[in-house]
Amino acid sequence: MSAIEGNLQAVRQRISAAAKRCGRSAAAITLLAVSKTRPASDIVKAALAGQRDFGENYAQEGVDKIIALRALAGTLPEDARLIWHFIGPLQGNKTKWIAEYFDWAHSIDRLRIAERLSAQRPEGLLPLRVCVQVNVSGEASKQGCAPEETLDLCRAVAALPRLELRGLMCLPAPTPDFSAQCRPFARLRQLFMEAKAQCPALDTLSMGMSGDLEAAVQSGGTMVRIGSAIFGQRMNGKK
Ligand SMILES: *Cc1c(COP(=O)(O)O)cnc(C)c1O
Repeated sequence: MSAIEGNLQAVRQRISAAAKRCGRSAAAITLLAVSKTRPASDIVKAALAGQRDFGENYAQEGVDKIIALRALAGTLPEDARLIWHFIGPLQGNKTKWIAEYFDWAHSIDRLRIAERLSAQRPEGLLPLRVCVQVNVSGEASKQGCAPEETLDLCRAVAALPRLELRGLMCLPAPTPDFSAQCRPFARLRQLFMEAKAQCPALDTLSMGMSGDLEAAVQSGGTMVRIGSAIFGQRMNGKK
């Protein structure tokens, strides 16, 4: 068994245990493996261990790996269709790559970027599934719309033809304290319920990373984004 396969099993165990503690089904939580800075060969190892959803932060690096993995598709089981999530900051000059190659984008934080993605999404592909990123409090990054702008942005994004709004995402600053971890997640869940009252199709709360996945599961997260607990510490110091 590869180290990555062992780590994946351990992360799935953490998700199951956290779900069980609060009476949720682990099946309601999607594990997204964050493969930023990792070589395509690590993604192959994870895919061979059954992982299907992968997250990338940098457009060019992500597209390079998507292309590399397509070329390696023959080495994976036939049903191993990989699902690619863009989770990094969205820049106007990179939206075309994201619209053409990714299945999801989690980091919509302004209407202009959403309009570009919608306009650039090729007709032959399913609509790009998206989440609105909210800066709920003390965010690790400056990305995300303000909480009070969230509902208006959701309404506008949901109306774009080539996007499918699925939910909300947040990236709080790391803290070791469990109840401090839960606070921004609870805030995001509250906003999610308000947005869902207007857009009933919303089903995704993208929150939780290696250090706070238990808090995210307890707070109602449906998609956890896990990097270092699967692939090990990132070597180049990138966040
Ligand atoms: C890097 C990253 C993650 C994963 O972080 P880990 O702490 O390595 O699990 C999740 N979400 C986003 C947006 C990231 O940039």
